[in-house]
Amino acid sequence: MARDWRKLEEGARAVATSLISDEISRDMVRWRQHLHANPEFGFEETETAAFIVKRLKEFGFTDIATGVGKTGVVATLRAGTGNRAIGLRADMDALHISEAGTAAYRSTNPGVMHACGHDGHVAMLLGAARQLAETGDFDGTVQFIFQPAEEWGQGMQAMLDDGLTERFEMDEVYGLHNMPGIPVGQFATRPGALMAAEDNFEIAISGSGGHSSRPHQTSDALLAACAIVTGMQNIVSRHIDPAELAVVSATEITTDGTVNAIASTARITGDARSYSPGISQAIEEALREIVGGIAVAHGCHAEVEYARVFVPLINDSELTEFATTAAVSVAGAQNVDTATAPIGASEDFARLLNHIPGNFMYLGNGDTEVLHHASYDFNDDALPYGAAYFTEIVRERLKP
Ligand SMILES: [Zn+2]
Ligand SMILES: [Zn+2]
Repeated sequence: MARDWRKLEEGARAVATSLISDEISRDMVRWRQHLHANPEFGFEETETAAFIVKRLKEFGFTDIATGVGKTGVVATLRAGTGNRAIGLRADMDALHISEAGTAAYRSTNPGVMHACGHDGHVAMLLGAARQLAETGDFDGTVQFIFQPAEEWGQGMQAMLDDGLTERFEMDEVYGLHNMPGIPVGQFATRPGALMAAEDNFEIAISGSGGHSSRPHQTSDALLAACAIVTGMQNIVSRHIDPAELAVVSATEITTDGTVNAIASTARITGDARSYSPGISQAIEEALREIVGGIAVAHGCHAEVEYARVFVPLINDSELTEFATTAAVSVAGAQNVDTATAPIGASEDFARLLNHIPGNFMYLGNGDTEVLHHASYDFNDDALPYGAAYFTEIVRERLKP
C-alpha cells in the first residue's frame, strides 16, 4: 500500500540534509546497518556500547562514561561558557524476535533483532554528536545518553540508580522514537500525556481443590479465578471516570487442576494501562478490593502483586513548544503534528521525564511493517531528519 509520503516535500528533505553533512548521512546508514546486523538484548549491549564509544572517540569526545546502568553510555560535549545543559537520549537494545527480513545486513544474532528501530535511534544520536562536535555552534553542555534495556522498562531506572541525574547535569531532556505509518520527514508529538503507563499484575488464588465428584467438599480456585476475570471488568466500567483512559486485561490463567480434580491453586496474570499515576493507583485499589471480595465469596484466598513497569510519558508543555520549533526548522510546519493522539504503548524515557522536564517526539518511519514485527526494519531515509532534529534542539536551546 503506497502512501503519499513518497511525495514528501522536497524542501523539507533539502533542509534536513543541509543540517547534516553528506558524509555524516552516509556514515549513519553504515552504523545503523552494522548495529542492525549485531543486535543485543537489554543489559547485554556490550558490543553496541563499545561501538558507540569507538565512534565518539573518533569524533574527538574525551568525556565518555561507560557502564552507567550496567551497559549504558553517557558522553558529554561542552562548547562556549554557558552553564545550561540538555540531555539527548537514544535507546540501544534489541528484542527476542527472529528476524524474517532478508536484507544483507539482517541480524547475525539468532533469535534477536532490532525490531523497534533502536539501531536507527543510536545512529541518529551518533550523527548529531558528530555534527555538533564538528561545528561546536552552541553554548553550554550536551549529554548524549545511550540507554540500555528500554524494551522491558529496566534500563532507565538502572541509569537513574547509577546517578544519571546527579553525575550529569541536565536542565531538560529530549528523546525520539521512529513511528511506522507516519511519513518519512514528518514529526509528531503533543504536550502532556503522550504514552501510557504499563502496570503488570499477578493474582495467586488458593482453595482446597479436591475430587471432581465431590465439589461440595471443595473450594474451587479455578471458579474463583473465572469470577475474578469477569469481576475485574468492573474496574474500567464502574471505578474510572469515562473521560480517562484505562485498560485492564487478564491475559493468562494457569491452575493445578486436571481433568478429574478441582483446582486448589490458580494464577492470573494481566496488564493495565493508564495515562496518569492517579488512574494507575485507582486501578490497583479497585483490583485488590474486587479480587479479595470474590475470593472470599468462593471460600478461597487471594494475593495480588502489582508492579508499575512503565510510568506514563508526560511531555512538558513549554519544552514541547521548543521541540516543535526544532522539528519545524527541520521539516517545515506542514510536516509537524503537534496534537497527535496519545497511544497505549509505553516508553522507558518517561522515567527520566519524571526527574527532568522535556519532550518525546515521533519521527516518521514511512510505510514499513509495524514495530516489534519480525519483518520490521528501520527506514534509513529517516536518519538525517532525526539527527538534524537533535542538532536543532541543541542550537535552539543552547543558543550562543
Ligand atoms: Zn519496542
Ligand atoms: Zn522502541
